[in-house]
Amino acid sequence: MINTALLPADKDPMGAAIADYFKRHKADRLRVFSSQFDEDEIPVEELFRTEKQMPLLERTALQMATGRILDVGAGSGCHSLTLQEAGKEVHAIDISPLSVEVMKQRGVRSVSQTNLFNEQFADEYDTILMLMNGSGIIGKLNNMPDFFQRMKRMLRPKGCILMDSSDLRYLFEEEEDGSIVIDLAGDYYGEIDFQMQYKDIKGDTFDWLYVDFQTLNLYASEYGFKAELVKEGKHYDYLVKLSLA
Ligand code: SAH
Repeated sequence: MINTALLPADKDPMGAAIADYFKRHKADRLRVFSSQFDEDEIPVEELFRTEKQMPLLERTALQMATGRILDVGAGSGCHSLTLQEAGKEVHAIDISPLSVEVMKQRGVRSVSQTNLFNEQFADEYDTILMLMNGSGIIGKLNNMPDFFQRMKRMLRPKGCILMDSSDLRYLFEEEEDGSIVIDLAGDYYGEIDFQMQYKDIKGDTFDWLYVDFQTLNLYASEYGFKAELVKEGKHYDYLVKLSLA
């Protein structure tokens, strides 16, 4: 089942890190745990990147965004603020109460604490932006039907989703001959579980999907969408445009 909930502040480590960095211009470590990988961390200042600091895939998505734009999982509001400055109409949503508060204080004009998959949220958009491995929010491949059905109802005619993702196959490449070791009978290799911690605030474990373009393309066409590969990044990452076929 796709997650439709909001976060409470005491389970919102990324929001706590964003709020701290906004107030003090520095932050502690935002730690990331996964049953599949070693411990890692997210550099909190990168969540406050300016347009110039954004990767080319993100800048391309912002340039392509038109009409009424929805910034899904907007975080510190970096993309929404850039779009606003360019005179575009954007609404930002996030499940994090602390991030939503920071976005208001940073001047994001239209923002709400909303889960993308909450049916009560029934607005329509020309562009739906999902950035920083935006496919993550889909959680697992078996949420694809729910995701595309939801998108069908939220897109205006001729509207599109602009999403970035990456193909995690490089993590399974054998060093010597470049061959791939993937268990085809197991779960899809891009289905990752994560948990984050900031200071003593630990979030619940959540599912985060990295999807290769081929697989995304198959699901898209099954559910009535056309997937166009807009641009590829330097490290198995890419930007895709999904529109109603
Ligand atoms: N887009 C921002 C933040 C990416 S982190 C950036 O590029 O910097 C992912 C964000 O998505 C987090 O802030 C998280 O709280 C939010 N999020 C996760 N699931 C969501 C959902 N179902 N609906 C809305 N926001 C969600």
